[in-house]
Amino acid sequence: MTLLDAVVVGSGPNGLAAAVTLARAGLGVRVLEAQPTVGGGARTVAIPELADGMPFDLCSAVHPLAWASPFFRAFDLPAHGVELVAPDLAYAQPLDGDRAGLAYRDLARTAERLGPDGDAWRDLLGPLAADWRQMTALAMGDKRTLRGMLDGLRGEHGPTASDLASMVRPGLRFGAALLEQGGPRWDRRFLTDEAKALLTGVAAHGITPLPSLGGAGTALLLAALAHADGGWAIPLGGSQAITDAMVRDLEAHGGTVETGRRVESWSDLPPARAVLFDTTPRTLLRIAGDRIGPARRAALGRFRYGNAAAKVDFVLDGPVPWRVPEVGYASTVHVGGTRAEMVIAEDAVAHGLHAERPVVLVSDPSVADLSRLRGPRRPLWSYAHVPAGSTEDVTEPVTRQIERFAPGFRDVVVGSRCIPAAQMERHNQNYPGGDISAGEATMWQLVARPTAAPDPYQIAEGVYLCSASTPPGPGVHGMGGWHAARRALLRDFDVRHAHGLAAG
Ligand SMILES: Cc1cc2nc3c(=O)[nH]c(=O)nc-3n(C[C@H](O)[C@H](O)[C@H](O)COP(=O)(O)OP(=O)(O)OC[C@H]3O[C@@H](n4cnc5c(N)ncnc54)[C@H](O)[C@@H]3O)c2cc1C
Repeated sequence: MTLLDAVVVGSGPNGLAAAVTLARAGLGVRVLEAQPTVGGGARTVAIPELADGMPFDLCSAVHPLAWASPFFRAFDLPAHGVELVAPDLAYAQPLDGDRAGLAYRDLARTAERLGPDGDAWRDLLGPLAADWRQMTALAMGDKRTLRGMLDGLRGEHGPTASDLASMVRPGLRFGAALLEQGGPRWDRRFLTDEAKALLTGVAAHGITPLPSLGGAGTALLLAALAHADGGWAIPLGGSQAITDAMVRDLEAHGGTVETGRRVESWSDLPPARAVLFDTTPRTLLRIAGDRIGPARRAALGRFRYGNAAAKVDFVLDGPVPWRVPEVGYASTVHVGGTRAEMVIAEDAVAHGLHAERPVVLVSDPSVADLSRLRGPRRPLWSYAHVPAGSTEDVTEPVTRQIERFAPGFRDVVVGSRCIPAAQMERHNQNYPGGDISAGEATMWQLVARPTAAPDPYQIAEGVYLCSASTPPGPGVHGMGGWHAARRALLRDFDVRHAHGLAAG
């Protein structure tokens, strides 16, 4: 059997980012994917029992990170035919009565709409949005080395003193905002329910108790990107468009992808000089545990998985009748009521309970992409936060939550399908118990995932972990894959400077 340069286990955005980086450096790369289709958390599929041929995003749907991430900026999705469309309204938070918090791409419009909290919103997010390049480099770089932190900023010739200097102010600002919004002082900034709930809806993405540093980090990054260049973008054709662009590029550089190839043990792998795992540490240990030193193996075994999401896909025969009609134009609607209600809901989940009024994320992709419509019918993507391993069908609680802010919602629903949290693993084993972050998203585990070792990516000789279980964590950004592949290039193939993505 011929020796491959590299095998990548898993074809999520991180696995493909790794594969593309290696293939562009001239290496022979094969990707092995357990599922029948490529893309992991960036897949768009038809659900035959719901509506003939209508495309549904199985996992990710909204993509601020796909335009802002240093990997995707280097890869250049638009040059690969991916059109990312960002509606004027990034996200919305409906409240009881005729109230809603609305985050427009236009910061001034957002501030104006927030009235008494307008200045406080602008002061918090304006500078972060202006420095989004530095902020994403910091948040998405490998924070364990200076070079890793500067990865997203520098050009072909390595980090410069001015790169470093340009990080200082945004870094301090981000740190101060993090401490404010991640702790007991978070309530001091805003006066109104609208502003408080608007930011909390974003903080809740991490599925952790609130306030928390992990939640605040997520909120500040995503909320700032809403007001930056690319907004909360939706890809034309669905998340699959991002995956397909990477697969095309991989194949153009000689790489291959094999689907339906679940790797259970080392003997399932073709011989290769390096193996990169776009998997959880749990799967990595099962396959390659005996190649990993005892201390690292024990540390990986202690990696903590988080609480979960249960997905509900709806087919509607008209738009959601939000009481505040503007809400219907947002990329994402956070349905959870006020800040206090969301705190209670996330606290219940943290205690292993189903919240009476769960936090629900909702997106109607047709606000940006009319190709998702089938005549008068449209898909509505949603998921609710639930405890890890929940087997509950959450269609009714999700419907009730949306109906609360959109009376008449039930009347436009013509079909639905729930994937309970416990079943998420069936279509992606990187989400154990429905943990869509592939590891608890506390601040410690966001920075020090999968372990606190100096190198989070290289786990053993020729063995790398490159999934969302490595820094910077969840999201469609490709950064874990990019970081891991460049480590492999340097250590296993002695490639220091190569064209484009591989430059290191
Ligand atoms: C419901 C939901 C909504 C989300 N919404 C968003 C969003 O709107 N925006 C956003 O940016 N992110 C979102 N995310 C998160 C995002 O999808 C993930 O963080 C991202 O896909 C992680 O990429 P990855 O490459 O690390 O792993 P994944 O995308 O999870 O891919 C891992 C791949 O590896 C394969 N695999 C695992 N083990 C094996 C094995 N042993 N053998 C072979 N193959 C294997 C899996 O089948 C899978 O295809 C969402 C996730 C979910 C589930």
